Amino acid sequence: MPGVFVITGPSGVGKGTLIRLLRERLPELAMSVSATTRRPRPGETQGEDYHFISDEEFARRVADGDFVEWAEYSGRRYGTLREELDRHTSGGHPVVLEIEVQGARQVRETLPDATQIFIRPPSDDALRERLIGRGTDDPEQIERRLKVAEDELAAADEFEHVVVNDRLHDAADALEAIVRGTI
Ligand code: ADP
Ligand code: 5GP
Repeated sequence: MPGVFVITGPSGVGKGTLIRLLRERLPELAMSVSATTRRPRPGETQGEDYHFISDEEFARRVADGDFVEWAEYSGRRYGTLREELDRHTSGGHPVVLEIEVQGARQVRETLPDATQIFIRPPSDDALRERLIGRGTDDPEQIERRLKVAEDELAAADEFEHVVVNDRLHDAADALEAIVRGTI
């Protein structure tokens, strides 16, 4: 089976930005589109950024065993659909899962061969500034995300690889080296 790469770390650390750069450098790398019950942000597209589904549909798909992993994050549910992952791996493509820490822990159990990479911010202040600068979350959401980030950062040592996203292109180089070394 081609590689599965789990990229995790607190919201706002730059996971999405780094994955975009990584995929420019490694176009064969596929991205697993997660399902979520949160609402689309302006500019997000159904089926591209996420499969946006209702609470009822998410619950039904959990009951049907459709998820490789799922977790509740900041009051919403997010999960990786088995069919989404299989579609890429059966086509021979390495695939990236961009997920939070509880989901990464589940993948560690169910797909022990997956490569797990934790992205750290250079400081707590930098994380706050990035969340504010991104402009996608209201102040209450930002505080909730920063609160979750405290626990997530405490979990960094669990991960096989840790990359500090200080200077973006240095972090992208480090991430690319890990992925190339594993494919
Ligand atoms: P995540 O996917 O982890 O939630 P994003 O990729 O959306 O994070 O990045 C959050 C914000 O931080 C974005 O506005 C992005 O442009 C910015 N950002 C990402 N990496 C860096 C970096 N190394 N230095 C400064 N800003 C960054
Ligand atoms: P956001 O609302 O900012 O898009 O995502 C919030 C958090 O949910 C991020 O940490 C993101 O990595 C995580 N996330 C996105 N998709 C999944 C998924 O399929 N499973 C899990 N466990 N977390 C996810």
